[in-house]
Amino acid sequence: MSITSYDVVIIGAGISGAMVAYQLAKYDVRVAVVEAGIDVASSSTRANSAIVHAGYDAKEGTLKAKLNVRGCEMMEEIAKQLGVHYSRCGSLVIGFTEQDLKHLKLLMARGEVNGVPNLEIIDGKRLHEMEPRVSPDAKYALWAPSAGIVCPYDLAYALCENAATNGTDFYFEFKASKIDYDGEYYTVMDGKKRVRGKYIVNAAGLFVDEIAGMVGEKLPFDIIPRRGEYMLLDKAERKTASHTIFVTPSEKGKGILISPTVDGNIIVGPNANIVESKMDTSVTEEGLEEIAEGAKIIVPSINLDATITTFAGVRATPTNGDFYIQESNKFKNFIHVAGIESPGLASSPAIGEYVLDILKNCGLELRENEEYIPTRTKDGNCKLFYEMDEKERVEAIKQDQRYAKVVCRCEMVTEGDIVNAIRRPIPAHTIDMVKRRTRAGMGRCQGNYCRARIAELIADEYNIQLTEVKKFASNSNLLLRKTK
Ligand SMILES: Cc1cc2nc3c(=O)[nH]c(=O)nc-3n(C[C@H](O)[C@H](O)[C@H](O)COP(=O)(O)OP(=O)(O)OC[C@H]3O[C@@H](n4cnc5c(N)ncnc54)[C@H](O)[C@@H]3O)c2cc1C
Repeated sequence: MSITSYDVVIIGAGISGAMVAYQLAKYDVRVAVVEAGIDVASSSTRANSAIVHAGYDAKEGTLKAKLNVRGCEMMEEIAKQLGVHYSRCGSLVIGFTEQDLKHLKLLMARGEVNGVPNLEIIDGKRLHEMEPRVSPDAKYALWAPSAGIVCPYDLAYALCENAATNGTDFYFEFKASKIDYDGEYYTVMDGKKRVRGKYIVNAAGLFVDEIAGMVGEKLPFDIIPRRGEYMLLDKAERKTASHTIFVTPSEKGKGILISPTVDGNIIVGPNANIVESKMDTSVTEEGLEEIAEGAKIIVPSINLDATITTFAGVRATPTNGDFYIQESNKFKNFIHVAGIESPGLASSPAIGEYVLDILKNCGLELRENEEYIPTRTKDGNCKLFYEMDEKERVEAIKQDQRYAKVVCRCEMVTEGDIVNAIRRPIPAHTIDMVKRRTRAGMGRCQGNYCRARIAELIADEYNIQLTEVKKFASNSNLLLRKTK
């Protein structure tokens, strides 16, 4: 059986693998990404708080601290280059007591050592000017103006689309389950599917330990799955907060936060509970109560009745407490990107850069790709109709009448946007893939109005029956049979 050979095979298309693929796309190297899920961002990267943390949280001197501050610094430029929504809205950690103030001062001192710019402790008056709905009992806050927010899965799509545009091959529903090494090439296998690479980047998130185990290596720590649940509020509640607001952390962790999202919603959560299964993204009644209680401490008047959806993500918490990014101690050219819990998203631009340096030091020859395309697609066109200005909208409709037909009324997504998402470098072929690329189905009605039309568009584009259209995975058919 023929097998395709690459210089580098990246295992996992979460934000870590995506950033490495993005960095490598600038060079003349053959790269493949294998991903167990049906799409980019199938795990932790899909469901998190979406905060680009400033970097005062991680212990001084840790790899986490270093990469968080650098990643936060790099994020804006990457987002701008790839047309990803990002906002440097800043973050506030609020305090109620003298004890909290002491803790905020410690966080500020730590942040300064880590290199976080412009940190300040502000008083209650300034805090309430900035956030009028915050509890009147809050007396202090640590203000970090360099923190931001980004859409995590859109960032991952954009990075992977850029890599695909520049020649990286993506293999979805490819669950690495066996790895052989012949002294030069690693062969990564999923049953009969196989690819081989001289260098391996193990960016499998919650499953990095299992990938290491496939070459007989035990990582020097365990990965504990810790679930975080969320509520997402309707855009009508956007005045709840305009900065990311945390409470002073306790020994249980950072606690519940309230934050705007780049799309104008309000996100509330997460809690942090150890779960048995790494795939347990269920949402529980107790979990939602815990979140509601935490949110009311920050903004007592928060309108949680305006929740339009709930979801959960699972953190890959390493028992050593730090990121572990290095070449395997046992196998050359096998690089682990492990223990990437929060602030993994914020750190991701720096993780990409860091892994590139490791690959270079391992001997990977990096000649610049002279035909490098810096945008998501060849023609740079990835704007959605709702993101366009008047002139761009008129032009889009002139080029393609489908931009004049609104499919999702809540989010103003047109047929043109959906067809474009289906034809992009990493094509959408399920309802949820279209949803995450266009926001169709993410509004107040959660897709009840537009889902059927999206299914028709997918069926038309792929020339398949409506009953063959999937919601999110290979066995999730939306419709079973014709009833009349
Ligand atoms: C509740 C929660 C809140 C968070 N909040 C924030 C935040 O606000 N800010 C922040 O900076 N960070 C946050 N994080 C952390 C951040 O989400 C993660 O650090 C980051 O997403 C990790 O990315 P990753 O690519 O390393 O892993 P993942 O996103 O898990 O990606 C790994 C990929 O590998 C694939 N994979 C696994 N096994 C295999 C296999 N055998 N073969 C092929 N593919 C495989 C998976 O399907 C997955 O797509 C949060 C995380 C959670 C869960």
